[in-house]
Order: sequence, then structure tokens, then C-alpha cells
Amino acid sequence: MRSRAVAAVAAWGVSVGVPAAAPRTERTAAAVAVTAGLPRAVGSANDVGNRPPLLPSPLVRLPVGSVKAEGWLKKQLDLMAEGFTGHLPEISRFCRFEGNAWTDPKGEGGFGWEEVPYWLKGFVDLGHLTGDRRILDESQRWVEAVMRTQQPSGYFGSGTNLADAESGTRVLDLWPNMVMLYPLRSHFEATGDRRVLDLMTRYFQWQSTLPLDAIYPGSWQKWRAADNLDSIHWLYNRTGNRWLLDLARVNYERTADWAGDIPTWHGVNLAQCFRGPAQYYPQTRDPRYLKATERVYDTVMGLYGQFPGGGFAADENARPGFSGPRQGTESCTFVELMHSHEMLVAITGDPRWADRAEEVAFNSLPAAMTPDLKGLHYLTAANMVQLDRRSKAPLLDNGGDMLSYNPWQYRCCQHNVAFGWPYFVESLWMATGDDGLAAVLYAPARVKAKVGRGVSVDVEVRTSYPFDESIEIVLNPERATRFPLALRIPSWAKEPKVVVNGSPVTLPAGSPGWVTLGRVWQPGDRVHLTLPMEIRLRRWERNANAVSVYRGPLAYSLAIPQRWQRYNESEQWPAFEVFPEAPWNYGLDLSTPVEVAKAGAPLADQPFTVESAPVVLEARGRRIPQWTLEANGLVGALQASPALSTEPLEELKLVPMGCARLRIAAFPEVKAEGAEPWAEAPPLATASSAGHFAPPSAMNDGRVGQSSGDLDVPRFLWSDRYGTVEWAQYSFPRPREVSWVEVYWADEEVSRSSGRVPHDVRLIAPTDGRVRLPASWRIVYWDGSAWQPAADNAEYGVARDQFNRVTFGPVLTTALRIEAQLRPRQSAGIVEWRVGP
Ligand SMILES: [Zn+2]
Repeated sequence: MRSRAVAAVAAWGVSVGVPAAAPRTERTAAAVAVTAGLPRAVGSANDVGNRPPLLPSPLVRLPVGSVKAEGWLKKQLDLMAEGFTGHLPEISRFCRFEGNAWTDPKGEGGFGWEEVPYWLKGFVDLGHLTGDRRILDESQRWVEAVMRTQQPSGYFGSGTNLADAESGTRVLDLWPNMVMLYPLRSHFEATGDRRVLDLMTRYFQWQSTLPLDAIYPGSWQKWRAADNLDSIHWLYNRTGNRWLLDLARVNYERTADWAGDIPTWHGVNLAQCFRGPAQYYPQTRDPRYLKATERVYDTVMGLYGQFPGGGFAADENARPGFSGPRQGTESCTFVELMHSHEMLVAITGDPRWADRAEEVAFNSLPAAMTPDLKGLHYLTAANMVQLDRRSKAPLLDNGGDMLSYNPWQYRCCQHNVAFGWPYFVESLWMATGDDGLAAVLYAPARVKAKVGRGVSVDVEVRTSYPFDESIEIVLNPERATRFPLALRIPSWAKEPKVVVNGSPVTLPAGSPGWVTLGRVWQPGDRVHLTLPMEIRLRRWERNANAVSVYRGPLAYSLAIPQRWQRYNESEQWPAFEVFPEAPWNYGLDLSTPVEVAKAGAPLADQPFTVESAPVVLEARGRRIPQWTLEANGLVGALQASPALSTEPLEELKLVPMGCARLRIAAFPEVKAEGAEPWAEAPPLATASSAGHFAPPSAMNDGRVGQSSGDLDVPRFLWSDRYGTVEWAQYSFPRPREVSWVEVYWADEEVSRSSGRVPHDVRLIAPTDGRVRLPASWRIVYWDGSAWQPAADNAEYGVARDQFNRVTFGPVLTTALRIEAQLRPRQSAGIVEWRVGP
């Protein structure tokens, strides 16, 4: 056997680690064939991979229940079971079992839409991963009831949905069913209940009979139908019914085209839909489908993902002009991104997708929830220093409370985050070609799988990763068996080390992405992988040249002491605002290196808290006094680095950003000389009426353009207001002296005559020529108790294509308004508005 291993390695042209003086018998010596990359063979004889003619994939998911979490990861599942996910029917009106449209063919409760399937997608898997009897019993009750909703036609789910479609009241909505297929699939994988295969076969037969225009006419289902494609392929791989591939083709053709222009900039849509073309690739075998997925991901992340944590700025929709680290990412987006990355690493074998899944899971997902997993919020950002309930619109896309921790609101996320950790656990290990195994993501775990010719193997992964660089893998095949063991080498890990049974093995140079160890593995064999975690800095050139500190897969945040303030009545399911208890407005001084202050201690039960952070770094920085909260409580925007600060140099503690519920993870760099001072923050712009496409923030974005009708620059419009008196307001964080105002009015008549097409219709929506100069206007200021006129007899100009300036005796104020009388049947708008002392 040994000579065969050596021959194979010689053929691969890489080194082999056979210690010359190994003090072990030849039978157990570390005779390991090492190669870069995954095994060349693809597909799996032991697990259900792609069935021909689908192209086999380099990695194959193991059935639900094969991988179980240990250590800190198991703790997350246990907390979920105790937290809102494990008790959602007590909290969510959508999850009441009796009379629910998902449990009763005549039921109306819960509307039969996405909430129950979102929740079950995590809840069913949570039961099988934890073995929690209560959760297993409750999920079984739901699964049975959902299966009973199947009609003789094959349709299952809400009866009203189908009846309304048949009577022409509403279009048929298959989106919620796409989600529900996931928990049913998990139920089959964990229990072998073949009724799931029958249900899905009859359901897809029914879908195959639908007229083409009834399949995904629009909205969520049209964008997100790659979820359905995943289930069609899953069923095909298990039944071999060739007509399913025809349905897969129709499904792809009826899905929004994610291989061309990006069809929607809604955050969750982006997170789950960009993978669609790559999912179709095994059926087409055309690499352009893989490239399309990469292109959409790179485009979105290039524009909006320019901060640590693996998410992107989409505080509902990704919007031009709102790409900084204070824009949030929706909790749904995090779990959908993780799912996409986990699917893509299997389809492509490209280890970068696993790096990306870890980046979201370790840095962003934990902070989307309270440390006890009893509450969550809608938006999590790399920089967020105060989680109060006040609306942060228009700086955040959504109005209302998006940041406080509350298990009762945030309708989609409350249900959808349930599958984040369970699917992550299930994706830790996968099957490889040549009937081996791959460590895809790292965390403490136990794996039961088949290798070689159907030989059972138990794998134990002992590690404190991502907080520690050491990963020990203990292999226990039921008998000595040859199989490849692939280890992912994260892109950040330079000079990784692998030791097999105490003997170092020589790895290929560079960052190979994967290394595969070939060997006749013996019961009790130990593989020790070290992924050195150097501290490194990352610059965000496209976000004011800010800087982030990384160590291994974790990005680091300023440790900000927190005050949790409860604001609801419920003892069991409390809701909290969180406030900073110390200054947060620090920039980093990079003239001295960031160093590790604490690492390697045993992990706390729940390591993702600021108090129990397993790793603490020490950096130096200075405060930036001008960097303040906006008037609505949102953290001030970043300004260009390096920024000038002559404040005293201080020692700063940094903790993993996943531990920090209040955070600064994209830092300005500060210098005490030779840098530009931080400017006073621009005022917060609000208005009496504002549309999505012409927000108040356009009034002080510094962009004026060529004329009042220049559609290449964003402008603010009083949307849907005609002939009324309206206001636009600037609020200052601190009182400011103002003695002049100048306004550049919008006027669409000019742009209509120019015949130009708007450059970006998302910012500049057509308004049918009803945006004209106002009839008149005036300035009022807030004196602390009422609005007062700033200048009674001043000249208020309404000329187009220029600033109209008005001066008045200086006023000291925290807010200033333009009050405008719109012309009859006309709206109005402002391209830019400036104030000065
Ligand atoms: Zn959501």
C-alpha cells in the first residue's frame, strides 16, 4: 500500500511526508500523500450528488444529521432552542398551529405565506441537530400537517392562494412553497420518510402543468425561484425522473435573469438570488453561468460590501450614495448569503465561498441577535454605536425602529434567521470525489459519514476556531481505509501547518485553497492543522480609506461598554435599546502595531459577547471630537483617512466584531499632523414628504450638476404633493450660527425639453414634468420651542439654474427649514441647499 501512495504522489509532483526516523511501526507511520486542491474525481458514491446528465459537483452535501455541532457552535443551537426560534409560536402570530393556512386546507391563519416556512426551515433542522425532543415532536406535528395540505392535483400549501389564483383575484404565489420544500427535504434526509419524495414529485408534476405565464409572473417568486430550482435538482438526484430536468429548464427561464443586468437591488433578493445562474450550471455545463454568479457578487460587493463582516449595505435596498459601514445589512440577508456561499462552495469547489460563509457567520450573524438569542434586530452594521428606537430614515432606507433588539417585530428576519446556524453546521463537512471527506468550514463538530467503499467513519473536530488557530481532527474509520481527506486553507492563512500523528507533512507552497491528504487512515489517526492568525489591516479605499483590523477570519471592533435598556413589559421576551457608556469616536493611530492582548484562554459558554470576548487586541488611537451622532442618533458618516486629531493618544481594546453589539469596525486612521481635519458633520436632511427615488439626502450630497433640470445628479422632490405648503429641514447635532441660505431649485421643464434619459432611474424618477419652481418660499428656524421666521423682508429668489441666496441676521439654532408654497397642480424639489455663518 505504501509504495502505491508514493507512486501516486510522485505522479502529482508534490511532496510527501514520510519521516525518515519516525519512531512508529510502518503500519501506523504518517505515510501521507499530499496534493494541492480537491481530489480530481468529482461526485460521491456514498452520498447523493448530481445524477447524470447533471455535471457532478466537487463537493456533495452530507444528509442532515451527519454533522453535529460541538463546543461554542452547539451552544448557539442550544440557545436557539431556548430562544425565540425554539418558541416562535408563543411569539409570532404567523406561527399559531390551529387554523393556520399551512396546517389546515381551509385555514386562513398566518396567511400561509413565507413566515412559517422560514421558521420551519431552521426549526426542523434544529431538532435533528440537537436531538431536542420537544422540538422534534413539534416539528413533526407541523411537517405532518403541511403534508396533509396536498391536494389531489399535487398542489400543497395555502388553499386560499390557489383558490384566489383560480378565481382570478390574485396571481398564484409559489414563493412560500419554495421555502417550505427545504424543511420537508431536511425531514426526509434525517428520517428517510419517503412521503416527502412522493409529495414533491406530485407537486412538481402539478407545476409542470401550469401555463408558462402562470409561473412566476412577478415579485419575490420571479426573483427568488432559484430556491425552487435547488429542490427540483434535489428531487431529480433522488428519483431520476427526467421530466424534472425539463421543469428545471422552465423554472430557470421563468426566473428573473440574474445572468444579465441585476434585476433588483433589494438586499435579501441580492443575497439569495445571485447564486441562481451557478445553480443552473450543472445542467447547462456552460461556465458562463458560473461567471454570471461571480459577476453579480463582485458587482454588489464592490459597490456596497466595502466594510468588514461579509455583508453589504442594503438597509432594505442597496442605494447609490449609501454604501458606508453605518448602512445596515438585514438579518435575512446574512443567513441567505451564508446559504448561497455554502451552496456555491459545493457547486464550484472554490474555497473563497467558504471563506465568505465564515466571514458572515463569525462576524455578523452573532451580533444580529442578543447574546441569549432571545431577541434580534433588523439591521446590523459594521459601525453602529447606538441602538435606539428612533427612525433613522432617510439615512437608513427604512423608517421606524430597525436597530433595537426585539423578538416581536422584524417580521421576516424573526422567522428566517432560524436556518442560519443549522445550515452552517450541516455545511461544515462535505463529501469529495474518490469517496473522501472535506473540512469545508471550521468549528468544533462531530461527523458521521461513509468513505471509501461504504466504510463508516466518525470524525471529531476539536478546536476553538475562529478564536484560535489550532484545529485537531480525530478520525475513526470502522477499519483502516484509504480515502482522501481535504482541508480548506483560508485565503488569509499564510504558512499553514499540518501534522499527522505527530509527524509534520510538507504542504504545497503559497495559499493552495485546499490540501488533500491521501492515506490509509487508521482508527485514532490525528490530523493537527494550524492556521496562523497574523494580525492584518485592510483598507477600504472606496469607503473614505477607512481601515479594519483582522486576525484570522475575525474582524475587530472597538470594545464599547454598553447599557441595555429594556422597553417592553415581557419578562420572558424582553426588548432592549442599547446605548454606549463611553466614547466611541476613535480613529486608529497606525504608527504602532496592533497587538494581541489576550488569546488562548478557554472559551466562555457563549463567546460572542463583549465581556466574554475570547480574543482582545490592543491598538492605539485618538478621539475625533467632530465625529458625532447624527441628529437622529445614527453614527456620523466616515470622512477621509488619515484624519487630523491632536487629542491624546490612548490605548484601545478591540474585540471580535461578532462579540460587539455596539461597534466601530471600519475605523478612520488618525494622525496628529499632516492630515486634514474632520469637518463638522453635514446637517441631517428631512422633509414633509419624500419619495424613495428623490430622498432629502440629495439636498446636501454636494452634487449640483449643470442646470435645474440636470438628471445626472440626485435631487430631492416633494413627491406626490401639488400646490401645497411643504417644508425641507436641516438638523444639526449641536447649535450652529447661520446667517445665509442658498437654494438650487429643481425644475423639470428644462430636462423635458432637453429630451434626456435619466442616467439612474433609481435616484431620478420621471415625474411627468410636474416638478417646477415653487411660487414662493421662506426660511424659519427652531428657537428651542417654536419655528420662527429668519428674515421677514428678505429677497427670496426663485431663479432656475443657479443658487438663490438669502441673508439674515445670524441665528443660533439646531434646525432650519425651507417652507415652500408649491404652484397649483405642480410639485417642487431641491437639487442642493447650503447654509453658512
Ligand atoms: Zn428580514
